[in-house]
Amino acid sequence: MKKIYRSIWFLFLGELCLGMFLTLKYMFKKPVTINYPFEKGELSPRFRGELALRRYPNGEERCIACKLCEAVCPALAITIESEPREDESRRTTRFDIDMTKCIYCGLCEEACPVDAIVQGPNYEFAKETRSELLYDKAKLLENGDRWESVLSKNIHVDKQFK
Ligand code: SF4
Ligand code: SF4
Repeated sequence: MKKIYRSIWFLFLGELCLGMFLTLKYMFKKPVTINYPFEKGELSPRFRGELALRRYPNGEERCIACKLCEAVCPALAITIESEPREDESRRTTRFDIDMTKCIYCGLCEEACPVDAIVQGPNYEFAKETRSELLYDKAKLLENGDRWESVLSKNIHVDKQFK
């Protein structure tokens, strides 16, 4: 009986019909895929993307050069140099991040007492050369300015769970 059943299955292309049936079934369901890059999926507020340095609303940079992020970074990707300003506040003169070393662990963000260094929502920053991924302070501040509206919203949402 088993042999007859298998012969009929092969004779009438059972596997093919089953495959066609599945295709037909999913043709009328809501697609689970998106048409990237024209459509983009939703990101968690905790998404760990490209690093950025934030400013206060008056334009002053948040970073106080405490170097906690540099000390905590397990990949030794951050290099900071600093000096006191005329008003005796401490600010960085150099803030480099080697994005080719970064492992996106988020420890720098967690260590920062003033929410200056953050991992933003940008994941589309693939480059053609290694040197383009060596970010300096200007580039990091530029990232912060570009994404500030999303960053501040994400930080606000995330703080409710801390
Ligand atoms: S995310 Fe992690 S690896 Fe990347 S710079 Fe921050 S602490 Fe270093
Ligand atoms: S980014 Fe934050 S943790 Fe890093 S040096 Fe500046 S204030 Fe300190």
